[in-house]
Amino acid sequence: MKIAIMGAMPEEIAPILEKLGSYKTTEFAKNKYYEASYRGIELVIAYSKIGKVFSTLTATTMIEHFGAELLLFSGVAGAVSPELKVGDLVVASKLSQHDLDITAFGHPFGYVPEGAVYVQADMKLIELSKEVALEMDKNVKEGIIATGDQFVANEERKNWIGNTFNADALEMEGGSVAVVCDALNVPFFILRAISDAADMDASFSFDEFLETSAVESAEFVMKMVDKIVNKTI
Ligand code: SAH
Repeated sequence: MKIAIMGAMPEEIAPILEKLGSYKTTEFAKNKYYEASYRGIELVIAYSKIGKVFSTLTATTMIEHFGAELLLFSGVAGAVSPELKVGDLVVASKLSQHDLDITAFGHPFGYVPEGAVYVQADMKLIELSKEVALEMDKNVKEGIIATGDQFVANEERKNWIGNTFNADALEMEGGSVAVVCDALNVPFFILRAISDAADMDASFSFDEFLETSAVESAEFVMKMVDKIVNKTI
């Protein structure tokens, strides 16, 4: 079994690499991939760099080049739902791309050509995350994540995304990773810890909480890996 653990920024995968201690580094397509054995399974870990293009490249590489059979994403996001505060965890039920717009041809906002507006994340992994949340005594919200090539630091844009996609959180990679995994038939799980409220203070909040929120998310994702290992042995 080979599991991909992906983030967008160095801070998002650093806690995972730290926990593993030793790993093999391989360069591919101008990015670094870290491989390690962990409790009898194989892991491939990478941060893609920010945005939909890089995250598409990295997710595809992890699956097609490194042979990952399952993908877990760990990172931070802006909150859309007022229920979500900095440090809270969100598990994506489904994901959309808020900046994909071919509405001029009668399609709804976010419509993926020959696809749909949303891509559903793997139900079994979501169920597993509920067990992990219980064991860790964490309150984890399951919700819709909207993705776009845009750091949202604007109340109006955030509200539009919330109303149009019924989104609870927004970020810049999940929706594209979802399309890749769906096309390649690889079960995927996207977890985000809130770093900001996607409002006018978002960049300051992001800078202040990126590291602590990234650790929250990474710890949870490693517990997911443990759960998966426990179920397979
Ligand atoms: N500080 C970085 C840019 C960070 S972009 C630089 O200078 O290069 C924000 C990253 O965190 C993205 O990977 C995105 O997925 C996530 N994110 C957190 N809050 C966000 C927000 N309000 N809008 C969009 N993405 C957000």
